[in-house]
Amino acid sequence: MFRVGSGHDTHRLAEGHPLVLGGVRIDHPKGLVGHSDADAVLHAVTDALLGAVGLGDIGDAYPDTDPRWQGADSRLFLQETLARLNQAGWRVVNTDVTVFAQEPKLGPVKGCIRDTLAELLGVPADAVNVKAKTGERVGHIGRGEAIGCHAVVLVEHAG
Ligand code: MG
Repeated sequence: MFRVGSGHDTHRLAEGHPLVLGGVRIDHPKGLVGHSDADAVLHAVTDALLGAVGLGDIGDAYPDTDPRWQGADSRLFLQETLARLNQAGWRVVNTDVTVFAQEPKLGPVKGCIRDTLAELLGVPADAVNVKAKTGERVGHIGRGEAIGCHAVVLVEHAG
Protein backbone atom coordinates (compact mmCIF):
# COMPACT_ATOMS: atom_id res chain seq x y z
CA MET A 1 0.00 0.00 0.00
CA PHE A 2 1.25 3.44 -0.95
CA ARG A 3 0.27 6.85 0.38
CA VAL A 4 1.26 10.31 -0.80
CA GLY A 5 1.51 13.48 1.27
CA SER A 6 2.24 17.11 0.49
CA GLY A 7 3.58 19.84 2.70
CA HIS A 8 4.09 23.55 2.34
CA ASP A 9 5.78 26.11 4.54
CA THR A 10 6.93 29.73 4.43
CA HIS A 11 9.04 31.70 6.87
CA ARG A 12 9.99 35.36 6.96
CA LEU A 13 13.61 36.31 6.19
CA ALA A 14 15.28 38.83 8.47
CA GLU A 15 18.72 39.95 9.51
CA GLY A 16 20.15 38.58 12.72
CA HIS A 17 18.79 35.04 12.29
CA PRO A 18 20.63 31.93 11.13
CA LEU A 19 19.55 30.45 7.79
CA VAL A 20 18.92 26.70 8.04
CA LEU A 21 17.31 24.86 5.12
CA GLY A 22 16.89 21.11 5.05
CA GLY A 23 19.06 20.81 8.13
CA VAL A 24 21.92 22.64 6.40
CA ARG A 25 23.27 25.88 7.85
CA ILE A 26 23.77 28.36 4.99
CA ASP A 27 26.05 31.36 5.25
CA HIS A 28 23.84 34.39 4.49
CA PRO A 29 23.29 37.78 6.15
CA LYS A 30 19.60 36.97 6.66
CA GLY A 31 17.87 33.97 8.17
CA LEU A 32 14.40 32.62 8.77
CA VAL A 33 12.23 33.79 11.65
CA GLY A 34 10.07 31.35 13.59
CA HIS A 35 9.37 29.75 16.94
CA SER A 36 11.78 26.88 16.17
CA ASP A 37 14.84 27.23 13.92
CA ALA A 38 12.30 28.03 11.15
CA ASP A 39 13.68 25.44 8.72
CA ALA A 40 10.95 25.72 6.08
CA VAL A 41 12.28 22.68 4.19
CA LEU A 42 12.16 20.32 7.15
CA HIS A 43 8.77 21.71 8.16
CA ALA A 44 7.35 21.07 4.68
CA VAL A 45 8.79 17.53 4.57
CA THR A 46 7.50 16.80 8.09
CA ASP A 47 4.04 18.04 7.08
CA ALA A 48 4.15 15.85 3.97
CA LEU A 49 4.99 12.80 6.09
CA LEU A 50 2.17 13.58 8.53
CA GLY A 51 -0.19 14.18 5.63
CA ALA A 52 0.65 10.89 3.92
CA VAL A 53 -0.52 8.85 6.91
CA GLY A 54 -3.37 11.09 8.06
CA LEU A 55 -1.71 12.44 11.20
CA GLY A 56 -2.69 16.09 10.79
CA ASP A 57 -0.05 18.78 10.58
CA ILE A 58 3.13 20.00 12.21
CA GLY A 59 1.18 22.62 14.17
CA ASP A 60 -0.85 19.85 15.85
CA ALA A 61 2.24 17.81 16.66
CA TYR A 62 4.60 20.66 17.65
CA PRO A 63 2.53 23.74 18.56
CA ASP A 64 4.39 27.06 18.44
CA THR A 65 2.79 27.92 21.78
CA ASP A 66 4.88 25.17 23.43
CA PRO A 67 8.08 26.57 24.99
CA ARG A 68 9.75 23.16 24.42
CA TRP A 69 10.00 23.99 20.72
CA GLN A 70 11.42 27.49 21.10
CA GLY A 71 14.57 27.61 18.99
CA ALA A 72 14.22 23.86 18.40
CA ASP A 73 16.34 22.07 15.82
CA SER A 74 13.72 21.05 13.24
CA ARG A 75 15.57 17.79 12.61
CA LEU A 76 13.87 16.70 15.86
CA PHE A 77 10.42 17.19 14.31
CA LEU A 78 11.35 15.19 11.23
CA GLN A 79 13.09 12.39 13.12
CA GLU A 80 10.28 11.99 15.66
CA THR A 81 7.63 12.05 12.92
CA LEU A 82 9.57 9.49 10.88
CA ALA A 83 9.84 7.27 13.96
CA ARG A 84 6.03 7.43 14.36
CA LEU A 85 5.60 6.36 10.73
CA ASN A 86 8.21 3.60 10.99
CA GLN A 87 6.57 2.25 14.14
CA ALA A 88 3.28 2.06 12.24
CA GLY A 89 4.99 0.07 9.46
CA TRP A 90 5.57 2.88 6.96
CA ARG A 91 8.80 3.67 5.15
CA VAL A 92 9.66 6.53 2.84
CA VAL A 93 9.89 5.68 -0.86
CA ASN A 94 10.95 9.09 -2.18
CA THR A 95 10.50 12.80 -1.72
CA ASP A 96 10.52 15.73 -4.12
CA VAL A 97 11.17 19.13 -2.60
CA THR A 98 10.94 22.58 -4.20
CA VAL A 99 12.46 25.53 -2.38
CA PHE A 100 11.37 29.05 -3.33
CA ALA A 101 14.01 31.65 -2.55
CA GLN A 102 15.06 34.81 -4.36
CA GLU A 103 18.21 34.83 -2.28
CA PRO A 104 20.59 33.27 -1.52
CA LYS A 105 21.19 31.26 -4.68
CA LEU A 106 20.59 27.66 -3.62
CA GLY A 107 22.30 25.92 -6.54
CA PRO A 108 25.55 25.41 -4.63
CA VAL A 109 23.80 23.87 -1.59
CA LYS A 110 21.08 21.76 -3.24
CA GLY A 111 23.29 18.67 -3.18
CA CYS A 112 24.10 19.11 0.47
CA ILE A 113 20.41 19.57 1.34
CA ARG A 114 19.60 16.45 -0.68
CA ASP A 115 22.23 14.35 1.11
CA THR A 116 21.12 15.64 4.52
CA LEU A 117 17.46 14.91 3.79
CA ALA A 118 18.33 11.42 2.53
CA GLU A 119 20.24 10.69 5.72
CA LEU A 120 17.45 12.03 7.93
CA LEU A 121 14.82 10.03 6.04
CA GLY A 122 16.91 6.86 5.88
CA VAL A 123 16.71 6.62 2.09
CA PRO A 124 19.33 6.61 -0.69
CA ALA A 125 20.25 10.02 -2.14
CA ASP A 126 18.51 9.18 -5.42
CA ALA A 127 15.21 8.93 -3.53
CA VAL A 128 15.45 12.63 -2.69
CA ASN A 129 15.18 15.48 -5.18
CA VAL A 130 15.70 19.14 -4.31
CA LYS A 131 14.71 21.87 -6.74
CA ALA A 132 15.31 25.58 -6.28
CA LYS A 133 13.14 28.33 -7.74
CA THR A 134 13.35 32.10 -7.37
CA GLY A 135 10.29 34.25 -6.87
CA GLU A 136 10.90 36.08 -10.18
CA ARG A 137 11.31 39.26 -8.08
CA VAL A 138 7.57 39.52 -7.37
CA GLY A 139 5.58 38.81 -4.23
CA HIS A 140 6.99 38.26 -0.74
CA ILE A 141 9.43 35.60 -1.93
CA GLY A 142 10.56 37.53 -4.99
CA ARG A 143 11.24 40.59 -2.83
CA GLY A 144 13.45 38.48 -0.58
CA GLU A 145 11.12 38.84 2.41
CA ALA A 146 10.49 35.12 2.82
CA ILE A 147 11.55 31.64 1.77
CA GLY A 148 8.98 28.96 0.98
CA CYS A 149 9.08 25.22 0.42
CA HIS A 150 6.78 22.63 -1.09
CA ALA A 151 7.37 18.93 -0.50
CA VAL A 152 5.78 15.73 -1.75
CA VAL A 153 6.49 12.41 -0.05
CA LEU A 154 5.54 8.87 -1.07
CA VAL A 155 5.41 6.25 1.66
CA GLU A 156 4.88 2.50 1.47
CA HIS A 157 3.48 0.14 4.10
CA ALA A 158 5.56 -2.93 4.79
CA GLY A 159 2.53 -5.14 5.46
MG1 MG B 1 7.32 26.38 9.67
